Amino acid sequence: THFGFQDVEEGEKAKKVHEVFANVAGRYDLMNDAMSMGIHRVWKNYFVHRLNPQPNWKHLDVAGGTGDIAFRVLRKMQAVKGSTGHVTVLDINQNMLDVGQARATQDATLSQERLSWVCGDAESLPFDDQSFDAYTIAFGIRNCTHVDKVVAEAYRVLKKGGRFFCLEFSQVKNPLLRMVYDQYSFQVIPVLGHVLAGDWHSYQYLVESIRRFPRQDEFRDMISTAGFQGSAYENLTFGTCAVHCGFKR
Ligand code: SAM
Repeated sequence: THFGFQDVEEGEKAKKVHEVFANVAGRYDLMNDAMSMGIHRVWKNYFVHRLNPQPNWKHLDVAGGTGDIAFRVLRKMQAVKGSTGHVTVLDINQNMLDVGQARATQDATLSQERLSWVCGDAESLPFDDQSFDAYTIAFGIRNCTHVDKVVAEAYRVLKKGGRFFCLEFSQVKNPLLRMVYDQYSFQVIPVLGHVLAGDWHSYQYLVESIRRFPRQDEFRDMISTAGFQGSAYENLTFGTCAVHCGFKR
């Protein structure tokens, strides 16, 4: 379900992404575990560790889905006594947000009043300029139609000194590893999609959309072009995923 659609017409893509996430919302967390063999949890933990959330931040998690990143960020904030930080989860799909909100209310370790849930578009954020200390987007930017608009909006809503952090599938460089990864992606993921979610084609798109997303260095340059300073990336698991970051001066 960490998928996207890069190979359909622009308007079509947004509609299709919407339909798919509305359909899979209930099985989303299960599918992530099955397809990544649980590794997505390790990547997300590392991502939030690298971000190093500060206790009093106003944090925005875009394409936040069922809350995986937001919960991790909030837990880090709550670990500091007297912290006042707040996390806003934004997603274009209300079904995903509903599942996230239900998860949050069942988790007694999370301060519900320090979480907000907003239905909206990453390409046109419903927030004022310079509203947040940090912005995250995990496995979401690939699903958006205009990646440059998403990054420009991140820049707009961040305060000066604010951090941009993105976790996304990326390109495996080593030819041997890429072969193994391709075999897994093309042979195993659609089958899992078929068996667990009754949906072969969506999971085939997943694999294809990963191949179409800009390479690590191209995406880093897009972040710089949007105005961010110090844009850089770090590969995870041989480039299966990458963490990109930058800050607003
Ligand atoms: N960040 C979560 C995670 O890591 O588990 C969810 C990632 S999920 C693969 C992608 C999410 O992006 C979906 O919840 C989908 O609804 C959302 N999304 C797709 N296009 C979007 C857009 N234009 N604006 C905001 N969210 C979007």
